[in-house]
Amino acid sequence: MPLWKIKRELLKMIMEASKSSYPDEFGAFLRAKHGIIYELVMLPGTLSGGRSVIYNLMMKPIDFTIVGSVHSHPSGVPLPSEADLRMFSRTGDVHIIVAYPYTLTSWKAYNRIGEEIDVKVI
Ligand SMILES: [Zn+2]
Repeated sequence: MPLWKIKRELLKMIMEASKSSYPDEFGAFLRAKHGIIYELVMLPGTLSGGRSVIYNLMMKPIDFTIVGSVHSHPSGVPLPSEADLRMFSRTGDVHIIVAYPYTLTSWKAYNRIGEEIDVKVI
């Protein structure tokens, strides 16, 4: 397994988008090159709308630069739900959950089967 990395600026952008969406969830896909996650891929309807975020993330476009997903947990607990695990298994190898209050340390990353993995901030 490669060690995933994420751009600090992108992580900040994710936290800002999650704050803007609060108390709804924020969700998007992640785009990476050479193991470095550098861009969000938005889908219509994933910016807000609570429970529909996970449903929309399951509607994965055919795009091999997409390596996984990110979504927010307004509850403050960055652990995957059953629906999250189903979505993870369908949408890529790296999945980030950011938890309220959306600081640069309030997030965790998981692989396709829901095991916690390290993602290095660069
Ligand atoms: Zn979730």
